[in-house]
Amino acid sequence: MNNIYGNLLVLSGPSGSGKSTIFKMLKSNCENISFSISSTSRLPRDGEVEGVDYYFISKEEFEFGIKNGDFIEYAEVHGNYYGTSKRVLNEAIVKPNNILVLDIDVQGFLQLKNEYKKYLTSIFLTPPSKAILKQRLEARATDSTDSIKGRLLNALNEMIEIDEYDYLLVNDDLKETYQKIEFIVGSMASKSSLIDTEKFILDWNN
Ligand code: 5GP
Repeated sequence: MNNIYGNLLVLSGPSGSGKSTIFKMLKSNCENISFSISSTSRLPRDGEVEGVDYYFISKEEFEFGIKNGDFIEYAEVHGNYYGTSKRVLNEAIVKPNNILVLDIDVQGFLQLKNEYKKYLTSIFLTPPSKAILKQRLEARATDSTDSIKGRLLNALNEMIEIDEYDYLLVNDDLKETYQKIEFIVGSMASKSSLIDTEKFILDWNN
């Protein structure tokens, strides 16, 4: 098939829904897949690595980046800035068959949705219930009680926009959820909006 563009796969959902685990599984099983490393003004958690999990920058540096037009989208989540590099995204969409995975929140997705519609496939991933999300966040032990409260409230607020996503996946069984995501990723390359349909018709007619 004559694909002329790359794919953008947006994975949104509360932290604790399994997004990073799913991404690691995708990365080890699929070719041509990469992760958009966001910049954030939040402090690194234990084990997080600069340039792998995020680019950790100061609030001032982030605000400079906003003024400079470095971010294609950004949002303030839990009092910290998070944003996606315009350059990385624009490079990804001109690489045929490439998949760039974006772990961004609902506000960020809504900023991209219209302009990048033809490249985008979007999934909202959630744990089965608020109670289970709370358990997972407590077990992770990386957030204070206040931060967990904020994350639970934020999760509920984000759900109001679920209808904007192509897929809603409830992650109660990691293996099953991953299989569904693999199917979605497998079919993304056949989106007609990513294909040079004029050339396809010409070739087909010859
Ligand atoms: P965490 O602090 O748990 O790493 O991330 C908090 C939230 O920020 C998550 O919902 C995550 O999807 C979102 N996030 C991470 N990077 C970006 C980004 O570049 N843009 C936007 N809009 N949200 C992001």
